[in-house]
Amino acid sequence: MKLAMINDDIMPLEKAQISAHDRCVYFGDGVYEAVRCHEGKLFAMDRHMARLENSLRQMDMLEKVDMEQIRHRVNRALRVSLIHNSMVYFQISRGQALRSHDYSEDWKPNFLLTIRKFSSQHRAVHAITHPDWRWKRCDIKSLNLLANVMAKHAATQAGAYEAILVDDDGWVTEATSSSVLIVKNRMLKTAPLSANILPGITRALLLEWADAIGLVVQEKSFTVADALAADELMITGTGTEVMGITHLDGKKIADGTAGTYTMRFQEKLTEAMSKGI
Ligand code: PLP
Repeated sequence: MKLAMINDDIMPLEKAQISAHDRCVYFGDGVYEAVRCHEGKLFAMDRHMARLENSLRQMDMLEKVDMEQIRHRVNRALRVSLIHNSMVYFQISRGQALRSHDYSEDWKPNFLLTIRKFSSQHRAVHAITHPDWRWKRCDIKSLNLLANVMAKHAATQAGAYEAILVDDDGWVTEATSSSVLIVKNRMLKTAPLSANILPGITRALLLEWADAIGLVVQEKSFTVADALAADELMITGTGTEVMGITHLDGKKIADGTAGTYTMRFQEKLTEAMSKGI
């Protein structure tokens, strides 16, 4: 059953309602995670919890949040949902108060979770490039996703699946809800971790697996021209898994199909999801 949970209360997804005065409504003041449940098991939950903890710390929210309680709520909701393959989304906002930019020190966190059925999507897609209009702390998984929403819609309007974001200096940062990597001459290249990108969990796994499939990792920024000249261009993420970008702004990448390494990484990910980490 698809469901929602607000703090400790579980309800049908459609019945979930939060206060109009929740700070996530006015300011997007909160953080979130999205975790895959594969064959009844949460995938890479410890890594998601570590990233959540860091986002909360960066937002000065951590001291009000009980991380064990979050884990307990997620597990409880999962047991009730009985969905074997799902996307578990949860967010923590800085509570509710009448609209005012600053918050009082006695704020209380609000937890919202949804669980919906999820299955793997297409494996080879088109992408566009789009200016990276986001803020300067993209390492925090905050609820503020306006620039991501705008770029994703531009992709949809162009008949593409994803928008690859390019900063003011011409470097590819990441995509609207995925990390971006290229393969060139057996080198796996992706932007280094910084405040300009989210530390993607799938990205990290690929970097750990690269050696086993014969690739050398280079965490170095690359340009759109590098992406166009790549042997393979791919995006990765919890919902994305590993997708090959076959066309960028309508231009073919290599032979215009998902590459061998891209498919190998997808196999590794499927294996890891089945085994669980
Ligand atoms: N980059 C952005 C901006 C994202 O929103 C996401 C996922 O939501 C990712 C990268 C991929 O991260 P992960 O592999 O942890 O899902």
